[in-house]
Amino acid sequence: MSLRELLSDVGDIIFPPQCAACSEIINRSSGQIFCPACLSQISFITGSLCPICGLPFLDSPAESHICGDCLLHQPYFARARAAAGFESIIMDAIHKFKYGRNISTGRALGSFMAGFSFPDFDFSEYSLLIPVPLHIKRLRERGFNQSLLLAEEMGKKHHFPVNFSLLKRCNFTLTQTGLNKAEREKNIKGAFTVTDKNNIAGKCVILVDDVYTTGSTINECARVLMQAGAKKVAALTLSRVIRKPL
Ligand SMILES: [Zn+2]
Ligand SMILES: [Zn+2]
Repeated sequence: MSLRELLSDVGDIIFPPQCAACSEIINRSSGQIFCPACLSQISFITGSLCPICGLPFLDSPAESHICGDCLLHQPYFARARAAAGFESIIMDAIHKFKYGRNISTGRALGSFMAGFSFPDFDFSEYSLLIPVPLHIKRLRERGFNQSLLLAEEMGKKHHFPVNFSLLKRCNFTLTQTGLNKAEREKNIKGAFTVTDKNNIAGKCVILVDDVYTTGSTINECARVLMQAGAKKVAALTLSRVIRKPL
């Protein structure tokens, strides 16, 4: 047994690994961050979906096709994909991480996200990860940017550099919670700025965030990155709200 394994075993006795959602003690050797009961309740996003925004067609499994939303307003991002639906277990774990300031849950969720295969997403087309930034005021309140923690785990797994300073949140916006799509778009417009256009020009970028709700935040980030000369912008999120397709 190596020293690292020994220390890890001792650590597990003192701080046994817990399920990221319900805090039940779990077996680290399972390689999972959730207990079997919680894991069984997670809806992983696979199957037919909108090739642009990644909306899954759950009720009417069909050939993948562009959804009504993307047909009406083509987004600035080339594609967005999420690992799981934003519901029950994932919602609880994100809540614990973000509002309970539980960094270790955040790292665990990052490795969970990084372990998802994102079928039909070609990582080799991209070269840089950018977390969706928080405004400095919110960063001070929370103490960390949840998207940066996720991006760091993604970067480690997929061998990508992570840059958290190229995109900045310059306006302190109201929370998007409770707003509809049109209100969200209005609220977020002009919230981001690119700090160094030379470092964005010609790059294919993956934005990383915890939740894709209507796509307004991701789309606004993509808009300013494309305006700054990015070649292509995609987004990967830990979860997404699954609504009925238009
Ligand atoms: Zn659990
Ligand atoms: Zn779509």
